[in-house]
Amino acid sequence: MHRERVSENVYWFQSELYAQVTAGVIAGPQWAVIIDTLAIPEETLAMREYIEHELGLQVRYVINTHYHADHTWGNCFFPGATIVSHALCRDLMHEKGIPSLEVAKKQNAALRQVKVVLPHLTFENGEMNLRVGKKNLILGQAIGHSHDGISVLVEEDRILFAGDAFMPLPYVVDGNIDDLVASIKKIGRMGLENIVQGHGDIILRGEIEAAVKENLSYLSAIRKAERTALKRKSPLEYLDEVTIEECGKSRVYLGGLAEPLHRRNLRALYRHMLENKDNLGPEE
Ligand SMILES: [Zn+2]
Repeated sequence: MHRERVSENVYWFQSELYAQVTAGVIAGPQWAVIIDTLAIPEETLAMREYIEHELGLQVRYVINTHYHADHTWGNCFFPGATIVSHALCRDLMHEKGIPSLEVAKKQNAALRQVKVVLPHLTFENGEMNLRVGKKNLILGQAIGHSHDGISVLVEEDRILFAGDAFMPLPYVVDGNIDDLVASIKKIGRMGLENIVQGHGDIILRGEIEAAVKENLSYLSAIRKAERTALKRKSPLEYLDEVTIEECGKSRVYLGGLAEPLHRRNLRALYRHMLENKDNLGPEE
């Protein structure tokens, strides 16, 4: 697991075991807030160890940016904490997270001790504020990767924990491409110092504009590939030939996971477009 201090009292953790998934810690004078947990129990426990023993704090709040397993299955390792999320995140964890953990436990012994802990405190519209020492955290919607996504802005530092609304490879299989485009554009206008992506490395101020552009052009490239595919006799065969590089991304991203995610994006978007053939989004 990698660890870095992003600014005063703001820390970042990144998994070395699963898809470079990240989590954050905001340390207050008496307690800490974490933003997401890591996918593998031992890494979440190592993060807790650091907070309790190096920072000398207990975790009082755990914010879940969205319901996916790699961000929420560590909730159970913070038994005294209040879990915070969007209301839809709670519903989806209940509806999908619980059964998928049952299946995963049969395949992976490391998950034996994991339990799904549903959020205790949720919000639906607008924003939610959480004060940690001198820092104000603003929780707001950031959908598109999933329908329940939120981001967390550390207002004083202009650091955004974007969840999976910002990733080295935008991923739309469980979300909506138009929503994701809107979220990425909004993030690009926020005047940020850092973007902490849900997976991958921290993006620094000077890199933000290029990263936003690259993600938007990837999404428009896959949309364009779908339009071409829909006109072909064998659309799926055509899509299988569309490489990640011709869509402006590299297959080495996410520790090599980018290529299979790209394949799944193309398949999912194709199904979505078939269902909504009359509305193919803006031509560009
Ligand atoms: Zn994720």
